[in-house]
Amino acid sequence: MAQKHCRRAIPQIFDYKLRNSYDIRKHLAQFEGFSDAKKRHRSLVKFVKKYQSSHEDLINCLSQCRPKNRCRLLACPMCMRRLRIWFCDQVAPLIAAAPKEWLWVTLIPERHYHPEGLLKDFNPQHLIDDLRKVFERYRLKNIVACGAIDYCMEIRKTDKFKITYNWQPHCHLLFRVSEELRHLLRTALNSIFSSSTLVEKPVYIAPLKSDGFEILKPISYCVKARFYSVYNPPRSASKLKAKRKKQRMHGRHQAELASFLARNRLRDRLVLIGAKRVQKSIVLPARRDVRKTDAKATNFGVNTSDSVSKSAGKGLKPDS
Ligand SMILES: [Zn+2]
Repeated sequence: MAQKHCRRAIPQIFDYKLRNSYDIRKHLAQFEGFSDAKKRHRSLVKFVKKYQSSHEDLINCLSQCRPKNRCRLLACPMCMRRLRIWFCDQVAPLIAAAPKEWLWVTLIPERHYHPEGLLKDFNPQHLIDDLRKVFERYRLKNIVACGAIDYCMEIRKTDKFKITYNWQPHCHLLFRVSEELRHLLRTALNSIFSSSTLVEKPVYIAPLKSDGFEILKPISYCVKARFYSVYNPPRSASKLKAKRKKQRMHGRHQAELASFLARNRLRDRLVLIGAKRVQKSIVLPARRDVRKTDAKATNFGVNTSDSVSKSAGKGLKPDS
């Protein structure tokens, strides 16, 4: 990530009209409210000023983020909240058409761990390329993955009671894969993400149990805007299963992560495989196994920009 300046990576979705009735603000009570995001935005500006004072561009962009002139940074809690509302409304109908065809997948690749202070050296495209390559190698065609790269600060107390801090980039993805290919998908993912002393379970796959508006929960979890640290207590012969503890991320880590995310492109954060963004829509290619006349009903048809503009539904109120 050699990019020096902030990127206005979030597309112009701030006037996006919800076209699919999957308004997460209405259907998921625990979805972050506008005032919570505003509060986090205020404290993030303080952390960045304190711990990343040389990143002036980031301080200016974040501080000047206003309702009619959003900064559009992937680091900004206000703009990320809007991205999540859009993402949920776009992905939900794809899944709702056939929820049983989808899987929930979490991937934790140890080789992308980066020590505190060196997150800037992580290239999200290397992680996404690993996925694309393994799907090619195992000939997993027609696979669809929608989700994002997430970040966690791993705090570990070693045997010598020394504390280490490591960034742990990982993925939360929703996969559409046929019943016959599920076993092959597991084999493919296990072949590139192997377990180690640091990561016991690098690949977690589960059927998507949600249905109806409930699917908004896993979809919104894929693209998180709030990040945490995880504390790993030392393990000894008597404490083999010492519990990991999730805790609030320290301000200096929030600032480092913001500095990194502010330089990301949208494709460095969102993972779309077998699906793509066309302006304000996420579309899937037409399926060979769905007759053309059924394509509209199942939402798997190619969505042209023309059909999107015609189907504009109820709009989001400016910044609500
Ligand atoms: Zn912003």
